Amino acid sequence: MIEQQAASTHGAPAGPVRYLQFEQLLQFPTLVHAIFTRHGGYSQPPCASLNVSFKEDQPEAAAANRLLALQALGLESWPCATVWQIHSAEVALFERDRWEDWLPDWPYRAVEVAGHQVVWTPRPRRKADAIMTAERNVVLAMSFADCLPLLFYDPQRQVIALAHAGWRGTARGIALTTVEALRQHFGCAPENLLVGIGPGIGSCCYAVDEPVRDLFYGRSEFTELPVRPELRNLVAESAVFSLVPASQDSSAASDEPQLHLDLWETNRRQLLLAGVKAEHIALAGLCTACHQEDFFSYRAERGRTGRFPVLLALRSEGA
Ligand SMILES: [Zn+2]
Repeated sequence: MIEQQAASTHGAPAGPVRYLQFEQLLQFPTLVHAIFTRHGGYSQPPCASLNVSFKEDQPEAAAANRLLALQALGLESWPCATVWQIHSAEVALFERDRWEDWLPDWPYRAVEVAGHQVVWTPRPRRKADAIMTAERNVVLAMSFADCLPLLFYDPQRQVIALAHAGWRGTARGIALTTVEALRQHFGCAPENLLVGIGPGIGSCCYAVDEPVRDLFYGRSEFTELPVRPELRNLVAESAVFSLVPASQDSSAASDEPQLHLDLWETNRRQLLLAGVKAEHIALAGLCTACHQEDFFSYRAERGRTGRFPVLLALRSEGA
């Protein structure tokens, strides 16, 4: 991945906004994407500093950070489509003429920051963990702290999708359902899709309990949002767990070997099973828990932390 810095924004207190981009996605002039670090925003600890979630933070700071992220990419006047992330395998289709469906159940639909209307709803109505669109000049926006961002682009069909894959979403097959939805709605051939798997918690830091493995292997079922029957075998086939000796696991509470989940490889395998070519998948390979200085980590910071944004958009041709 390539690290970029925004040109210094006036008044930003904590240095430049810093973000990462995938080389394989940078070759397309109409495609805009960024995975932001936690640097360069307004928020105070524990959300210091580029937090975009309204959960643990001052709303003014989160809103101002949203504007900073959009400004870093020159997208500050664009509306953002975002979802209420629920760790599902649900894929939402964004169409501009159905914009009303995407407005929040909230008295205001945008926040005003420094004279800018930031159209990135504080409380999205749509519950899903992936958004896909062929619309131009609309930003797909999601926020992360350990869960994996998956960025999809089909250069043939000119379609993008952004997905959020934590362990629950991965156990429900979010990478599989996103590829399937792109195929069904837009006729995307999986072998044409380019996918970036962004920073997220690595196997190194992701000790999990037995019940987590049981859910991946179909030995038990979620009480809500069960795994779709047709995905059951694919999810089980994709799952990558390992046993790490307690001596090598700083989080180990006993002498027993600790069960670890490899979200990166599990998602990569789901993409391969869905027909994406191995050479079209770029893996950041950056562990958010190992790199708390650069990213928010829900696990490493014990839940009291912010969320960094990931943005994906298509510009008009020739813009
Ligand atoms: Zn790690």
